[in-house]
Amino acid sequence: MLELKNIRKEYPAGNGKVEALRGVSLTFRKNEFVSVLGPSGCGKTTMLNIIGGLDKYTTGDLVINGRSTKDFKDRDWDGYRNHSVGFVFQSYNLIPHQTVLSNVELALSLSGVSKAERKKRAVAALERVGLGDQLKKRPGEMSGGQMQRVAIARAIVNDPDIILADEPTGALDSETSVQVMEILKEIAKDRLVVMVTHNPELAERYSTRIVRMLDGEILSDSAPLSVDERKAE
Ligand code: ADP
Ligand code: MG
Repeated sequence: MLELKNIRKEYPAGNGKVEALRGVSLTFRKNEFVSVLGPSGCGKTTMLNIIGGLDKYTTGDLVINGRSTKDFKDRDWDGYRNHSVGFVFQSYNLIPHQTVLSNVELALSLSGVSKAERKKRAVAALERVGLGDQLKKRPGEMSGGQMQRVAIARAIVNDPDIILADEPTGALDSETSVQVMEILKEIAKDRLVVMVTHNPELAERYSTRIVRMLDGEILSDSAPLSVDERKAE
């Protein structure tokens, strides 16, 4: 289980500061597909980056599997990022001169897995997103939707508990967006997926829970955990 407890995030700005998050409290189930909606600048990316350990909260706490992160050292954050979380970005962030297979294999290079095992797992992840026959291609030879599927394969290759996706369909047409959403829905069956999106229709259609944000706060939550669930999670 993952819990944000009254998270605040300030960034320095000029002489003052920007309050990107103003006390966000949210608990996620081990297994659900959460869409985060809200206008530009309301703190969605900041929240996702804090959940994924890419950015640090100013005050509050992020509780991971019952453990507070208040005293996390760099090593703890590294371990969390490398083993528990997979990221998917709007701009894919693939390495252009590497093949599709290498792009996915590289995500395993930090985890002490043998070369043969890396390849096996990367191929399996690419098969899962329907790209088992595109291993030797380079990202530049693919469509946006295919590149995003490679990025999803890269995110799941380590079998993380959590996938964080920041506007994964933001650069895609509607038909391709649907393909990407189908894949995210499928991989959300056995993990937590938190997706930021500008598209309320896709959120309604594919996710199991919708969280709306405004001005650094949670405006609404379609499926908060019940008291019993919180005890059990
Ligand atoms: P969203 O993803 O919802 O568009 P962000 O989380 O990117 O919003 O940004 C929330 C607020 O925090 C905005 O006012 C933004 O300008 C500010 N912000 C985000 N990142 C930084 C940063 N690294 N430095 C300064 N201000 C930032
Ligand atoms: Mg953003």
